[in-house]
Amino acid sequence: MTTGKNSPAQVTFWGTRGSIPTPGRTTEKYGGNTPCVSIVYDNNYIIIDAGSGIRNCGLELVGSGLGTSENPIDLHLFLSHTHWDHIQGLPFFVPAYVPGNSFVIYGSPNKERFLESILSDQMDTQYFPVEMTSLAANISIREMSDEALRFGDLAIDWQEQVYHPGGSVRYRITVNGRRIVYASDVELDQIFFPDEKTEETERLAAEYLAFVDKADLLIADGQYTEEEYKTKKGWGHTSIPVLLEIAYRAKVKQLAFFHHDPQHTDKLLNELWTKYSPKYHTADPPMHIFWAREGLTMPI
Ligand SMILES: [Zn+2]
Ligand SMILES: [Zn+2]
Repeated sequence: MTTGKNSPAQVTFWGTRGSIPTPGRTTEKYGGNTPCVSIVYDNNYIIIDAGSGIRNCGLELVGSGLGTSENPIDLHLFLSHTHWDHIQGLPFFVPAYVPGNSFVIYGSPNKERFLESILSDQMDTQYFPVEMTSLAANISIREMSDEALRFGDLAIDWQEQVYHPGGSVRYRITVNGRRIVYASDVELDQIFFPDEKTEETERLAAEYLAFVDKADLLIADGQYTEEEYKTKKGWGHTSIPVLLEIAYRAKVKQLAFFHHDPQHTDKLLNELWTKYSPKYHTADPPMHIFWAREGLTMPI
């Protein structure tokens, strides 16, 4: 799917689950695939994270006639970090096996091991039957610089997120004067409500607020309920009430809860939405909140 210039960008959730794929009857509505989101605008195809959701993303792309050898495509894949749930779908991404497709993978320049070796290790023969060097598309792997990347009218910038084991990156896509922020895998509780405030936590809090300021869509880690967080402190994920408070402070317009806990059933996520959404929906200004659902496409 592509969109014309000046029409809205199309954001699609291909995987919304954190940590591990959770197929089954209790996760049918919100989905069991791990993180993957695509943003399509004016022939630019951006994908963020390569969790198991990227498999369906690739199948649909090829099914629509794009990314095939007759109709190759340029894809840009941005990785938040290389924890399994964010890279495990990559070996199952069909367009990567099609000659003629060009595929650039971006990630943090601040990893101890070069991004390329982490990704190719995942496809070592001990773990997977096909080696990364066998992928037929023209694949390049780039560590990002400080400069924002531009693809036509679309710009992408990023920031390191410290409070996640091993670190992670958040991305901001600006297109048509609208902003989409993807900020998964970060423990905002430790930044905004630490046991002891320091210059560093103050700086990180200010950086976060500036980065997500007035986002038209914020896709954010809100993995734990308030109760669960008490025993998951330091695990690198945010509690729901903290995300709500911070997003509202930053005047976010739409907030998508993302990276759902593997234990969270459709029933629980429905209940959370019923509990929290009315308060913010009727606030002034209102903030529209929802729990991201696999398969959902929304214009931004
Ligand atoms: Zn994760
Ligand atoms: Zn992670």
